[in-house]
Amino acid sequence: MPEPLLFEISSEGRIGHSLPMLDVQEIDVEDLIPEKFKRTVPPELPEMSELDVIRHYHHLSVMNHHVDKGFYPLGSCTMKYNPKINETLAGLNGLMNLHPFQKENLIPGALQIMGELSDYLCEIAGMDAVTLQPAAGAHGEMTGLKIIRAYHDSRGNPRKRIVLPDSAHGTNPASATITGYETVQIKSTPGGLVDIQQLKSSLNEDVAGVMLTNPNTLGLFESQIAEIARLVHDIDALLYMDGANLNALLGIVRPGDIGFDIVHFNLHKTFSTPHGGGGPGSGPIGVKADLSRFLPVPMLIKKEDKYLFDYDRPHSIGKIQGFYGNFSILVRAYIYIRMLGARGLRKASENAILNANYLMHKLMPYYDLPHKQHHMHEFVLSGDRQKEKGIKTLDIAKRILDHGFHAPTVYFPLIVHEAMMIEPTETESKETLDDFANAMISIAREVETHPDLLKNAPLTTPVSRLNEAVAARNLDVAYKKLNS
Ligand SMILES: *Cc1c(COP(=O)(O)O)cnc(C)c1O
Repeated sequence: MPEPLLFEISSEGRIGHSLPMLDVQEIDVEDLIPEKFKRTVPPELPEMSELDVIRHYHHLSVMNHHVDKGFYPLGSCTMKYNPKINETLAGLNGLMNLHPFQKENLIPGALQIMGELSDYLCEIAGMDAVTLQPAAGAHGEMTGLKIIRAYHDSRGNPRKRIVLPDSAHGTNPASATITGYETVQIKSTPGGLVDIQQLKSSLNEDVAGVMLTNPNTLGLFESQIAEIARLVHDIDALLYMDGANLNALLGIVRPGDIGFDIVHFNLHKTFSTPHGGGGPGSGPIGVKADLSRFLPVPMLIKKEDKYLFDYDRPHSIGKIQGFYGNFSILVRAYIYIRMLGARGLRKASENAILNANYLMHKLMPYYDLPHKQHHMHEFVLSGDRQKEKGIKTLDIAKRILDHGFHAPTVYFPLIVHEAMMIEPTETESKETLDDFANAMISIAREVETHPDLLKNAPLTTPVSRLNEAVAARNLDVAYKKLNS
């Protein structure tokens, strides 16, 4: 049954608190507010008891899918389990209640956490300097692109273009465009990798940088990366790595060692901080030494064992985020890295790769797999075979919800027809992977036996198939419902 709106549960005069009698003289606040600021109609707020409120939100929380409730193989998003110790420690009074305007000398612990986290990220990615400011991966991309621009400006040749493959995440061309660049798209090879010939023909004096994701969004490692880096550097352009897929590389490959000049980290993906539903995220970037002077101000630097903010950076691209980023997300990532240690991080990536390949082999007989080679932490199936029988990938994704799983990412990357991008992550057990595989296999059978079921799925969720566009086109649906 759908959960009613707060306004529908509201009962006039019901309140969620009771206060003791006043033992001082009561002042009518009405008298303190100038007439012009006063409401002419009462606010339309729901009136409820505490229990009503708790139950309402609890119901909502279990109606929705989340990683604590079930398997969430949303490709590219790395929906791993977020250990509860992250929450406990990030919730400590001394961390949670820090005020961002507190003087630096009063918060050495917070600076140390951020400083050490920066050092770990440098070590993990093979980079020389890090900023923790960007609020998400896409924001990191924008920051990195501004650094690419500053680098070329400093050499008196601003350049115009960013080259990226057709498998890129949509944020890559969007970030390049918002930073003022034209984008040039290059086609992938049938094997799913960067086409070196195409890349060569797109590189010239106008190209400021090349953005790649490695492993790419098909889950394939760009094995010619050394050659690619050489070509890019030969024309004095910079090589940017979209690090959203870093969960495949921890302790195995460092972007800085294979030719990348800049990389962003999605702390909310790789380093187990909660995400989905909009944030908050964190997208630090790491750069090579010769680019560090362009990083945003302030820079966290270490002087005689102490971390402090350095604002005196004349080449900096400026400030890109309030204060120093999303601090509590940084704390969670720091705890995760400390908890796993170097070996644990490597093990996490190894298991993420193992889980993805295990699942891929189980599903290969039932769905098309356009790229059959060994994959990294995720793989992309195609629903082409099912489409021929009249069942779209969207129908399959909806039916998966009936099995209690979140659907994979669908219709991305764009270069695979009817794409289903599956990323199990390392935190799932073999039993969960088997259950998911069995659900996918039973759905493949339903395509033959019960196509109508698939077309109407989901059948067991709190709401069935939604019109996915109406909420964006008609922003006041809830209001209309109330007033109809
Ligand atoms: C998630 C993702 C991004 C964008 O990161 P946000 O943190 O969501 O802004 C960019 N590229 C790839 C490949 C991604 O998976």
